[in-house]
Amino acid sequence: MRYSALTVLTQALRGHAGWRPAWRNPAPAPDYDVVIVGGGGHGLATAYYLAKHHNVGRIGLLEKSWLGNGSVGRNTTIIRSNYLLPGNLPFYELSMKLWEGLEQDINYNAMVSQRGVFNIYHSDPQRDAYARRGNAMRLHGIDAELVDRDALRQRIPYLDYDNARFPIQGALLQKRGGTVRHDAVAWGYARAADRLGVDIIQNCEVTGIRQERGKVIGVETTRGYIGAKKLGIAVAGASSLVAAMAGLRLPIESHVLQAFVSEALKPLIDTVITFGAGHFYISQSDKGGLVFGGDIDGYNSYAARGNLPTIEDVCEGGMALMPMIGRARLVRHWGGIMDMTMDGSPIIDRTPVENLFLNAGWCYGGFKATPASGFCFAHLIACETPHKVATFYRLDRFASGRLIDEKGVGAQPNLH
Ligand SMILES: Cc1cc2nc3c(=O)[nH]c(=O)nc-3n(C[C@H](O)[C@H](O)[C@H](O)COP(=O)(O)OP(=O)(O)OC[C@H]3O[C@@H](n4cnc5c(N)ncnc54)[C@H](O)[C@@H]3O)c2cc1C
Repeated sequence: MRYSALTVLTQALRGHAGWRPAWRNPAPAPDYDVVIVGGGGHGLATAYYLAKHHNVGRIGLLEKSWLGNGSVGRNTTIIRSNYLLPGNLPFYELSMKLWEGLEQDINYNAMVSQRGVFNIYHSDPQRDAYARRGNAMRLHGIDAELVDRDALRQRIPYLDYDNARFPIQGALLQKRGGTVRHDAVAWGYARAADRLGVDIIQNCEVTGIRQERGKVIGVETTRGYIGAKKLGIAVAGASSLVAAMAGLRLPIESHVLQAFVSEALKPLIDTVITFGAGHFYISQSDKGGLVFGGDIDGYNSYAARGNLPTIEDVCEGGMALMPMIGRARLVRHWGGIMDMTMDGSPIIDRTPVENLFLNAGWCYGGFKATPASGFCFAHLIACETPHKVATFYRLDRFASGRLIDEKGVGAQPNLH
């Protein structure tokens, strides 16, 4: 069923009795040409682009719970391509371009909103660093503007410009950055992949990876054995656990990151704002809630819930940037599991096990990467060579020392 204004009208006249489920609920087949493990944004996008662009045969996607239960449905929805390093810039810009055409491509309203992302700076060195980042972006054909204090004050008047401790000097603006409704991304890709014949199997946990003479031949699951000619792992926070089933030890730690939503307020924040003197980022959802977040909790965990000291830390960042936020009531918060690599950049690569491919290490930033990640991972699985914008995301870079340390903090996953 294609969504269109005419379909909505027809359904309205018929009492909405004719809508069909957005995707099928098939039983797992005994085997597939390609099996993708993980029904988050990255797994679903991979399955979709594999089916759309590559002739790889039958594709099965296995999700241990329900679509959207993982970080794809838990993030703060920010998209941007304001990176600095050559390994990252073209990749995240491809993602931005795919976001820009996504809704037409998958015929689904994902509420892509290019409302702009302002990264606030508070000191001369930070301004210089942001100017350098903006220049790198422009050299790669990506939009970037340095906004001074007066122009910023006109655009976002409610920030604390008189805070002596964290004086606001200006911001780096990417106008094309913004937000996307996170769970609509999962649902939209699922529906589009299903229409191209992908079997999406929920409540199907992969519990083992079967190999024969160093080659993957299939997976053990809670719904029985499923054969696979090629296997792609895209399980984000559970990457180390699933890779260990094939005997791999990844350069990844899992950490919890929390998100927060206030009570619904009248429209107030019409852009995305990040604080440069601490870790705090905020936007306002279409329902009116202020959606914000900050740092990871700082210890290894597989629990999708966080702790009070981090809530205090994030709220302090908010108060320092926009004291008015102290009047809003926090109504919801939750955690998600982050697959933090040693350099803060992802991995899209083959593994030492034949026919086993890995998509992992998304840290805080995997939501914005979803389309390009799926696009490049599909290319890798089908063509067995990396896509040209993902050539830096190799697994062996941690052994060879070719790191992509975007934040410059070294091998400290808790700081990326
Ligand atoms: C609070 C929070 C805020 C964030 N904010 C942003 C942001 O603003 N911008 C941004 O770019 N990024 C953000 N992120 C990061 C982003 O959400 C993640 O990097 C990204 O969603 C991870 O990819 P995914 O969607 O595929 O993961 P997930 O949705 O977690 O998908 C992985 C799936 O694998 C499944 N799985 C695990 N093990 C198995 C198994 N054994 N068998 C079968 N299935 C399995 C899981 O159930 C899960 O559904 C945020 C994350 C969090 C938690």
